[in-house]
Amino acid sequence: MSGICNFIYNKKYLNQNFKNYLRINISLYKYFFIENPEIIKKKIKNLCYKRKIFGRIYISNEGINIQASVLKKYFQVIKKNISSLHKDLKNIHINIGIDNSRISFNTLRIKVKKKIISDGLNSILLNKNFSNKYLNSKEVNNLLYNKEAVFIDMRNNYEHKIGHFKNAILMNTSIFRIQLKKICNYINKYKKKKIVLYCTGGIRCEKTSLWIQSNGYKNVYQIRGGIIGYINDCIKKKNSINFIGKNFVFDLRLYETITKHILSNCNQCHRKSDYYVNCINNNCNLLFIQCELCSKIYKSFCSKKCYKEFHCR
Ligand SMILES: [Zn+2]
Ligand SMILES: [Zn+2]
Repeated sequence: MSGICNFIYNKKYLNQNFKNYLRINISLYKYFFIENPEIIKKKIKNLCYKRKIFGRIYISNEGINIQASVLKKYFQVIKKNISSLHKDLKNIHINIGIDNSRISFNTLRIKVKKKIISDGLNSILLNKNFSNKYLNSKEVNNLLYNKEAVFIDMRNNYEHKIGHFKNAILMNTSIFRIQLKKICNYINKYKKKKIVLYCTGGIRCEKTSLWIQSNGYKNVYQIRGGIIGYINDCIKKKNSINFIGKNFVFDLRLYETITKHILSNCNQCHRKSDYYVNCINNNCNLLFIQCELCSKIYKSFCSKKCYKEFHCR
């Protein structure tokens, strides 16, 4: 697998103060067979250069996954360009970020990978007879209060910690691959219920749904567009929002605030807080929650040990 492409644009393209440079955050994915990912990569790379797109883009034989920051004025033309890349990308659903006041990416990284998301599954195992069943926000809200349904959070524990659907079940793992390996046993007691899967934008549930169906589960659903799709659909249709806290995102922003509920505590002083930081000691790089007060005391270090180690080098 080859080719990481990295570049940084002139700062003016990151300035949210000028209407012409206003950016929005988008994400999309699609599983479909790509015979030659390098060809698609080249086309996308050209599009990114032309339209000043920043982001993280993965292409593989199994599909495409794009998370990007795009200039608002180019959104429609970018959407059109992506749709015309391949017949299977026609009418592609693009999630628009909930929080566009902050920039998600300031560099571009396009990579051809073995898989667009590391799942540890052999693709051949996925039976083509199963299909994905999607729920809109109204259907989600109805099922949330239905005893016959169970919501499974397909994200990692650190994502769940700062925001989730009320009563959602978490498997408490920090790697998707392992979660997928364990899920069929884990949800065995819910076999007769309606199983609703959710993740940030839907990509993880897309595969999980097929995987657990091929393991004998029948009533498996997923939220269209994941949490982001749900929130946007609620806003559009004026439905009540039943997701509480923050939506963890894998970009510079780290989160999108959905409601004001603070669901977790500072790792250092245990006060209520839900702001993630990465320990700036490169040898550590721990992702942890740090309150405002502790960020003044410890700066962005996870511990005094890391602070000392960093300054003694
Ligand atoms: Zn603290
Ligand atoms: Zn540290």
